[in-house]
Amino acid sequence: STNMAKSKFEYVRNFETDDTCLRNCYIVVRLDGRNFHKFAEQHKFTKPNDDRALGLMTRSARSVMGDLEDIIIAYGQSDEFSFVFKRTSTLFKRRASKLMTHVASQFSSSYVFYWKDFFGEQPLLYPPGFDGRVVLYPTNRNLRDYLSWRQADCHINNLYNTVFWTLVQKGGLTTVQAEDRLKGTLAADKNEILFSEFDINYNNESALHKKGTTLIWEKRDETVTKRMKRPDGEEEDVPVTRSRRTVQDYHCDIIGEQFWEEHPDILED
Ligand code: ATP
Ligand code: ATP
Ligand code: MG
Ligand code: MG
Ligand code: MG
Ligand code: MG
Repeated sequence: STNMAKSKFEYVRNFETDDTCLRNCYIVVRLDGRNFHKFAEQHKFTKPNDDRALGLMTRSARSVMGDLEDIIIAYGQSDEFSFVFKRTSTLFKRRASKLMTHVASQFSSSYVFYWKDFFGEQPLLYPPGFDGRVVLYPTNRNLRDYLSWRQADCHINNLYNTVFWTLVQKGGLTTVQAEDRLKGTLAADKNEILFSEFDINYNNESALHKKGTTLIWEKRDETVTKRMKRPDGEEEDVPVTRSRRTVQDYHCDIIGEQFWEEHPDILED
C-alpha cells in the first residue's frame, strides 16, 4: 500500500510467478463441485436430475456473470460451470489465478447464499467447495469445440443416467444389476431400452437435462416513465426507453450452427 515505506521483506514479492493469460485468447474458467457424488446423496438430490440443484448452480453462475464483467457466455451441467471471458479482456491484467479464484469464490459463496431459495428449509449440511481451472482457446473453432465437448458430455451422461435410474426406479433392478445391464451398450441400445421397455422417448425428456444451461447477455428494451421538467418549468411524465443488458438462459443445442447464427455477437472475429 502507498502509505507504507518499503520494508526489507518486500523482495519476497519477486517469488510470485507470472500467470498472465496469452493475449487474444478466450479465457475459460471451468468450475466443478468437489465430491458432489457424496454431496448429492447427503442432500437427497433426486435422481437422475435434481432441478433444485441445477437451479442453484445456474443462480450462482448468474451471480458470477453479474459480478465479473467481460464474461460473454457460460455453460453448465451437473456440478460444473464454464465461464468464457472475451478475448480482449484486461480484467485483473489477465492473471489466471485472480480470474479463476474470483470466479470460484463468487460462485461458492453464491451457492451457499442462495441455497434456501432452492432447497427451502432443507439444511445445507456442510460448506461445499468447487475446483477451478483455466484454459485458453485461440480460435473461435477451438472455443466452440470446447463448449460442444461439454454439451456432448452432458448428453452422454444424461442418457446413461436416465436409463440407469429408470431401470432402478421403474424396472425394479438394483443399482448393481442396472450397471451390469448397461455395460457395453451404445446410445441406440439405451434409447431402445427406454422406448421398448418403459415407453419413454428420450427426445421428449426435458431440454434442461439433455442440453444443460447456456447463459448469455441479451439487450432488452425497457420503458419506464420519468417525471421530467420542461423548458417552461412545468413537469410532465415522459416514457423513457433504454436498453438494458440482462442474462438470458437457454437449454438448446450449442453444437450446431443455429445458436451461433442467431447470436452472432457472442464471438469476436
Ligand atoms: P481489492 O479488491 O483490490 O482487494 P480491497 O478494498 O479489498 O480491494 P485491500 O487492500 O484488500 O482492498 O484492503 C482491504 C480493506 O478492507 C482494508 O483497507 C479495510 O478498509 C477493510 N477491512 C478489511 N478487514 C477489515 C477489518 N477487520 N476491520 C476493518 N476494516 C477492514
Ligand atoms: P470430483 O470431486 O472429482 O468432481 P464428484 O463426485 O463431484 O467428484 P463428478 O464427476 O463431478 O464427481 O460428478 C458429479 C456428481 O454429482 C454426479 O455424478 C451426480 O452424482 C451428482 N450430481 C450433480 N448435480 C446433480 C443433480 N442436479 N442431480 C443429481 N445428481 C447430481
Ligand atoms: Mg465434481
Ligand atoms: Mg462434475
Ligand atoms: Mg481485498
Ligand atoms: Mg430456464
